[in-house]
Amino acid sequence: MRLSLTPAEQQLQEEVRTFLDSQPHLGRRLPHALEDRIEALREWQRRCHESGFVGRAWPQEFGGAGRPPVEQIIVDQELAAAGAPEFVNVVGLDVLGPSLLRFGRDDQRRRYIPTILSAEEIWCQGFSEPEAGSDLAALRTRAVPREDGFVISGQKTWVSWGQFARWCGVLARTADPSPYRPRHRDISMLIVDMRSPGIEVRPMTQITGHAEFCELFLDDVVVPRENLLGEPGEGWKIAMYTLGHERGTAALPRQVKLRTWLDRLIRAACARELDGGALIDDPRAQTALAQALVAVEVLRHHAYRSVGEFLGGGAVGPESSTVKLLMAEAEQRLAGTALELLGASLQEATPEDAGENEFWEETYLYSRAASVYGGTRQIQRNIIADRVLRLPEG
Ligand SMILES: Cc1cc2nc3c(=O)[nH]c(=O)nc-3n(C[C@H](O)[C@H](O)[C@H](O)COP(=O)(O)OP(=O)(O)OC[C@H]3O[C@@H](n4cnc5c(N)ncnc54)[C@H](O)[C@@H]3O)c2cc1C
Repeated sequence: MRLSLTPAEQQLQEEVRTFLDSQPHLGRRLPHALEDRIEALREWQRRCHESGFVGRAWPQEFGGAGRPPVEQIIVDQELAAAGAPEFVNVVGLDVLGPSLLRFGRDDQRRRYIPTILSAEEIWCQGFSEPEAGSDLAALRTRAVPREDGFVISGQKTWVSWGQFARWCGVLARTADPSPYRPRHRDISMLIVDMRSPGIEVRPMTQITGHAEFCELFLDDVVVPRENLLGEPGEGWKIAMYTLGHERGTAALPRQVKLRTWLDRLIRAACARELDGGALIDDPRAQTALAQALVAVEVLRHHAYRSVGEFLGGGAVGPESSTVKLLMAEAEQRLAGTALELLGASLQEATPEDAGENEFWEETYLYSRAASVYGGTRQIQRNIIADRVLRLPEG
């Protein structure tokens, strides 16, 4: 893979930096209340989109910039390095948008893609159910076909941003299960309007104190036929493509972000005291920081390889599970190290110390989810064993 930038790519990098320098709110903390936070993030994505930094590689006719995919990666890395917040429509951009582009009809792309990019309409993902998470093909939500569409009934869970979303990509059974057919053959993907009668959303509070995800109840929700994505029974294929994107393409910007966090932790360790000396001079602190650096570096190299394959025209395949595992490992190690080191110094002498402690507490708590969302650590290992290494069943 080519690691240096062309003159045109360097110019893009400069453009992003100039844009970031002109954003006065960038360094400020996001509002605490979730509704205000969502609005601030929506506004941030809108501004980035207006400047051509969202959907850089998506087709121009649907609101993208129609540029080579490497440009989005350059933009995302610059945003991550500047500590910019993530885009609020992350599910639309990284998860369901790519599936709409790949499997949607032109009228669907025209209808949904532009407002995903501008964050005017937030998307959520209705895959998991109380009895179907890792074993997603066990899902029970039914979409009964009728002449003009489908009637959906069932329950989804862990739906991120469900209370703010206008659209949900719902996996549901469109045929009765049969002992003669694999379970995943009966599943279809439907685009559900979250304002439909029969939808109920109940937010669930996480250990961070925020209610970022929800339970979603669907009670005889009518979905028009034109909201079917792909063909009936193609839902599983679309879901696997969707999850591959969710697991694979975020790695490069994520490793940049983790590196900025590591640098931040090193600065804090330099500023803090332990037993009358600087925390950074403690050999245990140095070892822990070195181990966190190794985890981030391992992720960086795997991310280059996986993105190199993607840019070379390859699909995001089962190998993305390796990167997903390493992302979780690096994030959890770093956040755990921060808690251990800053906890040991117990210093809150200045408002900066207190702010720093708060940042790492929230980061640590959120990092626990990294080995669950998008498929758990154990499931990624199963995929690697089965589909990458092709190990025999034990
Ligand atoms: C922050 C966050 C956001 C999320 N957002 C969404 C969302 O927007 N939309 C959505 O649909 N879902 C979402 N999820 C759900 C997520 O995809 C599921 O939590 C995940 O797939 C695991 O399913 P589960 O929670 O039902 O756990 P289970 O499947 O019940 O697993 C429980 C434990 O058993 C292990 N296990 C299960 N099967 C096996 C096996 N075959 N081999 C080895 N170990 C196994 C698992 O690894 C896990 O440790 C989100 C989750 C989190 C944490």
